[in-house]
Amino acid sequence: MSPRIAQRLSQVERSATVAMLDTVHRLRATGVEVLDLGGGEPDFETPPHIGAAATRALQEGDTHYTPSRGLPELLRAIAAKLSAENRITVDPAAGVIVTPSAKHALFVALMTVLDPGDEVIVPTPAWVSYAAMAGLAGARAVSAELRAEDGFRITRRLLESCVTARTRAVLVTTPNNPTGRVLDLAEAADIVAFAVDHDLVVITDEIYEKIVYDGREHLSIASLPGAADRTLTVNGFSKGYAMTGWRLGYLAGPEALVTPALKVHEHTVSCASSFVQRGGIAALTGPQDGVHAMAKEYEARRDLVVGALNALPGVSCALPEGAFYAFADIRATGLTSAEFAQWLLAQTGVVVAPGTAFGAGGEGCVRLSFAASRSVLERAAERMASALPGLRTG
Ligand code: PMP
Ligand code: GLU
Repeated sequence: MSPRIAQRLSQVERSATVAMLDTVHRLRATGVEVLDLGGGEPDFETPPHIGAAATRALQEGDTHYTPSRGLPELLRAIAAKLSAENRITVDPAAGVIVTPSAKHALFVALMTVLDPGDEVIVPTPAWVSYAAMAGLAGARAVSAELRAEDGFRITRRLLESCVTARTRAVLVTTPNNPTGRVLDLAEAADIVAFAVDHDLVVITDEIYEKIVYDGREHLSIASLPGAADRTLTVNGFSKGYAMTGWRLGYLAGPEALVTPALKVHEHTVSCASSFVQRGGIAALTGPQDGVHAMAKEYEARRDLVVGALNALPGVSCALPEGAFYAFADIRATGLTSAEFAQWLLAQTGVVVAPGTAFGAGGEGCVRLSFAASRSVLERAAERMASALPGLRTG
């Protein structure tokens, strides 16, 4: 029998970034040595006090459902963090949902605001899952194509050019994966004014907020005047706290959006894991020195990787302002992004993500994650420096 697969899946690709993580696991299991700059996954261990809190919770038998919105103590910790660090005011009892991953928070947000046939504007290059999630909701992501030449700046004019009668939301990421761009106040204000004028919901993915460079400050869109009642802020613990395997994130915003979102959350996962949430409380309320140390180390690695890339023939790369990705322009090598990524893996064992995974506008670029150890980054840089001249002449 050939089973009938729902039509909506024909519009959706498998996740290119998750596939890359899987490929690396598979190659390593067969003994192949790879230098993984592909998937965006911190190489650091989760700070030990967070693990200890979750272990204690398990030992104490905290292995049952929690309230669907999340443990009240965690909801309060998230609301306090949003107020102190992001200047966002939310009601801990009504304006937050703890989710198993930021990915699930994004899915919940899109399912809550998009009907079949609706559109969400997504500035691209963008992380791989937004368009797929919109597709799973039966809706469509409309690309607002940003230009490397303009430093991937979001402009009001570009957003206006994407609006149709079906536009319901705009989804932005700051700091950005894959471009490394951090939104400034003027851009954020333009996004809010645009959303107000067209009566749109803003979904903002701030999962890399802890990783910003050169003394920059992360800016939360929901903190801007006029934004709070139409903005859903998504965040999580994976990147800043090196907790990818824990699967813990959250969604925060006005009750009028968050309470309806509970229907999606409750009917898909009920709640995030109980002992994992106890780790989340320890993360938010415990010492933050590990988070700052990781961000500082990413900054040093950024300089190492971007310096090495710009020394390669046919490659140029701007300095990312945040997140842990270098988005390098490889057009002068004469290869497409996918060809370059394949060639590099075959020649050097270095895994990178083709720019096209992040939208058609990513053609000509590859993304290198520097959430890998310095020794891996140094070896990757050496191997690329040896291999690239051969590509240009050969
Ligand atoms: N948003 C962006 C931009 C990401 O790069 C990721 C990485 N996985 C996520 C959301 C999801 O994070 P998680 O599901 O691990 O919380
Ligand atoms: N966000 C990471 C990346 O962009 C991890 C994989 C994923 O969840 O997409 O590589």
